[in-house]
Amino acid sequence: MKILRSATSATAIRPRSGRRVLVPTMGALHRGHGDLIRIAREAAGPDGEVVVSIFVNPLQFAPGADYEKYPRPEQADDEFCGNAGVDILFRPSVEEMYRSDFSVSVEEDSLANTLEGKSRPGHFRGVCTVVAKLFNILAPDAAVFGEKDFQQLAIIRRMVRDLNFPIEIIGAPTVREADGLACSSRNQYLSPMERQQAPVLQRALQEAQRLAMEGNRSTAAILNAARRMIEAAPLARIDYLEIVNSETLHPVAEASPDSLIAVAAFFGQTRLIDNLRLS
Ligand code: AMP
Repeated sequence: MKILRSATSATAIRPRSGRRVLVPTMGALHRGHGDLIRIAREAAGPDGEVVVSIFVNPLQFAPGADYEKYPRPEQADDEFCGNAGVDILFRPSVEEMYRSDFSVSVEEDSLANTLEGKSRPGHFRGVCTVVAKLFNILAPDAAVFGEKDFQQLAIIRRMVRDLNFPIEIIGAPTVREADGLACSSRNQYLSPMERQQAPVLQRALQEAQRLAMEGNRSTAAILNAARRMIEAAPLARIDYLEIVNSETLHPVAEASPDSLIAVAAFFGQTRLIDNLRLS
């Protein structure tokens, strides 16, 4: 496995004859990332190569958010990538990615206004900008993103469409712990009590899915049932809980097979997100 730290060295290495597939991450790699790498390997084929980028992107963190304390276990991540059969690990520094007079960014203006975008102003501008830069530096044929961050996936698909990046975007299903909690680098912040209560998010989303599949259409009623379940966990504090159209990401009054329920909740200082299709 090659480890590259500078954009120029990454740009200099051109893809071999096969496909190059990129998995962008912020590191602290877990089974969810492992699945993305496996999917990338399949998409790359026997002659292709898998590139993982690890970059904790300051532009997507609000001031005072967990940028400084975000875990950066470099050695463990190197071993993880080596064992997963990654061909190239790209780990640039902040200075490498952003010059001090950096002044151009990419902003999506429709899908980014709800859910995470509403709770975290500027977040998706940071995401789009860094992903556009990674696409230009690494020139992949395809890139894999997790459905756990389904709004991010939708926005990246839109960016690729609207800015004509010749890159296939592949979505990967959410990987969960045995008790249903979505794997996340932030799970390690949870205290034992918070960790015990965090799976309530997935249970509440499943309850919403069950109600919708039984024929309940009113999203207000479905959301109430899900909200009550989450609020029964004393350490959970809901940031948002919404049912949206999975294409537009705008809230809907009636549940349909296109609907998706999304939640963000704090357990102590730790903010977790999850989502589930209602069909
Ligand atoms: P992150 O390192 O958290 O920025 O995530 C990097 C990529 O991994 C993103 O495309 C995420 O959606 C994806 N990802 C993170 N957690 C999971 C998970 N539990 N299941 C599937 N994909 C995930």
